[in-house]
This record gives sequence, structure tokens and C-alpha cells, in this order.
Amino acid sequence: MDTDFQLLWEKVIEELYTIYDEDVFNEYIKPHNRVYKFSDNTFYIITHTLFHKSKLENYYYKTFTDAIEKICEKPYDLKFVTKESIEQEEHIIVTPVEEDFVPRVNRGNLKLNYNFDTYVAGINNRLAYTLSLQVAERPGIFNPLYIFGGVGLGKTHLMQAIGNYILDNNKNARVLYMKAEMFIEDFVSSLHNKSSEMFSDRFKDIDVLLLDDIQFLSNKEESQNEFFKIFDILHNQNKQIVVTSDRKSSELKNIMDRLRSRFEWGMQADITPPDLETRIEIVKKKIQSERIDSDFIPEDVIVYIAKVCNNNVRELEGALKRVLFYITLENENCTVEIAKKALKSIISESQSDITANEIIEKVCDYYKVPKKILLSKSRKKIVSHSRHLCMYLIRTILDLPYKQIANLFGGKDHTSVLYAIDKIKLNIQVNEELVQDINNLKKQLNVE
Ligand code: ADP
Ligand code: MG
Repeated sequence: MDTDFQLLWEKVIEELYTIYDEDVFNEYIKPHNRVYKFSDNTFYIITHTLFHKSKLENYYYKTFTDAIEKICEKPYDLKFVTKESIEQEEHIIVTPVEEDFVPRVNRGNLKLNYNFDTYVAGINNRLAYTLSLQVAERPGIFNPLYIFGGVGLGKTHLMQAIGNYILDNNKNARVLYMKAEMFIEDFVSSLHNKSSEMFSDRFKDIDVLLLDDIQFLSNKEESQNEFFKIFDILHNQNKQIVVTSDRKSSELKNIMDRLRSRFEWGMQADITPPDLETRIEIVKKKIQSERIDSDFIPEDVIVYIAKVCNNNVRELEGALKRVLFYITLENENCTVEIAKKALKSIISESQSDITANEIIEKVCDYYKVPKKILLSKSRKKIVSHSRHLCMYLIRTILDLPYKQIANLFGGKDHTSVLYAIDKIKLNIQVNEELVQDINNLKKQLNVE
């Protein structure tokens, strides 16, 4: 192999390091660092399995050829060949050289792809997002910044985005990201080794401290004390501190009051589960950040994935990966049918594929109200009750945004949807018959 082309190819791989998510890079890009041959203006790259070959050809081809053109300053073609096919062709064994890939950017343990560009701001995280951006632009402005919320909702991502942003603007900034568990572990072992001074030295010269999941400090008195000291030193020098937690500071258990009060000095913001609209945006963002051709995954498949995964974003990402994997493995076109198959095992029956329209039709059927009347402006009691119940069921089963529900009913104001849902909720508490109706309807819809 002409070493020039091998060297060029390594530069192409290096170029892609900055583009792809770490997981994608490690799985699909980094292992394909060997040029088998260069002929007819084409790079022949060795892949390990047919699966990888097909995935590379389907998803990554264009980004590779763009990077080739950028690095080589000329367009070249690209072909992926499996080791087996080369062996068959030439009766030789090709052993890929395992070279350690050295990234150009050193960001400690921050994930490069956890940045603001890859983060979707929705109503569920608006305040946390805005405050994080401000802190990233002007470290020290809200100190500390305290972000809290459930698992898999984007706290770590947002916190690291702050770190990455600060480093983007100032390469010399010293940003330290640490999980609280690691803080405790390191501190305890420094006590055992009688080197606690060395432990606190690590924090002396930093500009930004990102401490993740501080709820783990609960009950760990000595670690809390140590963190308290570090906190005060950094805070006095106006060094930015960001912490995340699974709950608001007032609800932290077994945390000393003086530490809790420090958390209240700055700003607190929560992140809640994203609604459907935001989930759709997140799926789109993930597709974009994996550089997958957006035509490849039709809108209805994106909406389907976002609809069925309504717990947390990590699950949503997992579902998208699963669908992509399935399509590649089965060599199928990307359709809702295929996505359903791919996700069959992780979706409970209750989250099946009911649409808002089906809910409306079932309710019409149940109360014998013609759909046309239900969607009209009629204020007859049974009609408006049915309409309200539709809104309630659509919200609770499908988690659609209020505005979208309003649109289904002739573009009503979203406050009328809020009103309808509250009314049903109140009625449920006093009206047995209504509870029975809701249960019957849910049964008919195959929910719960
Ligand atoms: P947490 O720390 O709250 O448990 P993470 O920050 O680890 O959650 O997020 C889990 C996954 O979901 C990560 O891969 C992250 O990139 C992704 N994620 C969460 N929220 C968003 C968002 N708003 N936009 C894009 N990706 C998100
Ligand atoms: Mg986290």
C-alpha cells in the first residue's frame, strides 16, 4: 500500500473524529483505518464484517467522501471491502494494524459531542438550558448553577456542554468534570493513603468545577466537608461551580445544612421529561449528529419512535439505534412497519400505536356522538363532555402537546384544552360513572 494514501486516510479519520459522536466514532470510524489499496482514484477500505460494510455504505459514505475531498483537496471514490472478500480474492491474510488513535483535542473527560449544538431546548429544560448558556458565556454569573431532574433527561449532557463551550472560547481554561461518586472514592482513598492534601490540590487551580450527581454525597459526611471547603475556596475566587442532582436541594437527604444553603446561593433549574414535540426534535438531532442522510429516515418513522419512547431521552436514543441497526441487518427500507418490528420487544402493549384520531373515533362511538358534531362548535352537554374526554385521553395516553391537541379540535386556544383536562381530572374524583367510562374506553383502545 502506498504509504501516502494510508497517511491521507488517517487524516480523513482524524477529520471525522470531530464530526461524529464518540460511540459512533469508536464503532464505525476508528476501526476502519486501513487502506487495502488505492486504485482507479478509489480508496479501498477494509471492514471487519458485512454488517459494518453495509452500515458504512448506507449511512457514512457521503461524510467520508466529503472528508476525503477536504483532506486530499480532490474528490476520490471510496469502496469498503471485507477481510473475507480480500482473502478469497488474493489468498492472503490481511491483519489490520491496531494503531492507537490520538485525538487532536484534549478535553479531559468531557465528551466532545455533549455540546449546545447537539442539545435540544424544549419546554422541559428551557430554564436549565438558558442558564447553562449564560454560565458558559460568562462563568461566575450564577454561582453555583444547580441543575436537577430524573435519570436520562440530559443533566450530564448540559453540564458538559458548559465545559466544552468554555474550552471552545478559551483553550487554557481549566475545566474539571467529576462524578460525585468518583469524588467520594478518590477522597476516601486519599484519606487511606494519608494524601488528602494532594486530593484538594487538584482543585486549587481549576477555573470551572462540574460535579455530577451530587445526591451521592448524602450520608458521606467527610466527603461533604471536603467538598464544602473546596466549594468555598472556588466560590470566593468567583470560579464557576456547576452541580447536578436527581432532586432539588431542599429535598436532598442527609446533606449538611451549610452545604445545602450554598446550593441555594446561585440558581436552580429543573429538567423534566420532554413532550412529544421535543422528543421528535431530539430524534432529528441525533440523526443529524450521526450524519445520517435525513431522507433515509422518513418523518413518520421519527414520530413513531418519539411517540413510543416517552420516559427518558436515553431510552429514546436506544430506540433510534435499534431501528437503524435492524434496518441495516435486515437490509430493509425504513418504514413504520419495520420500526415497529425493531422495537416490538421494548414497547409495552399500552404504548402501542394508537393515534389521536382513533381515540376520537372510539369516544364518538362510545357516547354515540357523530364525529362531525364532536368536532363542531356544538355546546350540547354530551358533545362537550365527549370532546373534553377526548382531550383528556389524548393527553394522558399520547402525551401530545396542548397546542397540538387544540389543533385537532379546530384550532382552539390551548388554554381550552387545559381547562377541559382539568375538568375531567376533577370529575374523576367524584364521578364513579366517569371512571368506569374511562376504563371501558381504555380497554377498547388496548391501553392499560
Ligand atoms: P442524565 O445525566 O440526566 O441522566 P444524560 O445527560 O446522560 O442524562 O442524557 C442521556 C442521553 O440523552 C445522552 O446521550 C444525551 O445526549 C441525551 N439527551 C438528553 N437530553 C437531550 C436533549 N435535550 N437534546 C439532545 N440530547 C439529549
Ligand atoms: Mg448524568
